[in-house]
Amino acid sequence: MEQRLQAAIRNIPDFPKPGIQFKDITPIFLDPELFRDLVKRFAQEYKKYSPDAIVGIESRGYLAGPAIALELGIPFVLIRKKGKLPAKTISHTYSLEYGTDVVEVHEDAIAPGSKVIVHDDLLATGGTAEAAGHLVEKCGSTPVLFSFIVELNFLNGKERLEKVAPCHSIITY
Ligand code: IMP
Repeated sequence: MEQRLQAAIRNIPDFPKPGIQFKDITPIFLDPELFRDLVKRFAQEYKKYSPDAIVGIESRGYLAGPAIALELGIPFVLIRKKGKLPAKTISHTYSLEYGTDVVEVHEDAIAPGSKVIVHDDLLATGGTAEAAGHLVEKCGSTPVLFSFIVELNFLNGKERLEKVAPCHSIITY
């Protein structure tokens, strides 16, 4: 499974900026067998946390996230950037290298007291997932796991997130 994932993920040099090696995970979703195995693998891993919901981070957290939620028979919740969600939201502002950003969730999307898995495609510095975790807490629920397909180990995002909840990724670079 790891080898098939590694073969599918491609390196795109100088995207979105010169000097950055972007990991393109989109080919995984061109291969239905690999996609299905990935979802089953995540669902198996998640079971031990008895999650009540999975939140996905915009936008690549929406690729595997809903399929895993469906497999487990639990709700999938969208976390989006500011101003995208139509109904009343709860928001959380977090710091970036330069400036701030805001993530939002519909105020009625996560039942208070839920055990929530935060899912995204890739962990880099951990800033995005950490903000999503704080947003879950603001909703009166608990992040029980941060989950990724890929982790960029050299950016130490895991250490940052593990202050809040354990971290799981299938491929580490
Ligand atoms: P972080 O907040 O620094 O951990 O960045 C993670 C966020 O940036 C995730 O939402 C990823 O989708 C996105 N991201 C950063 N680098 C890459 C990459 O190389 N491939 C795909 N997504 C990336």
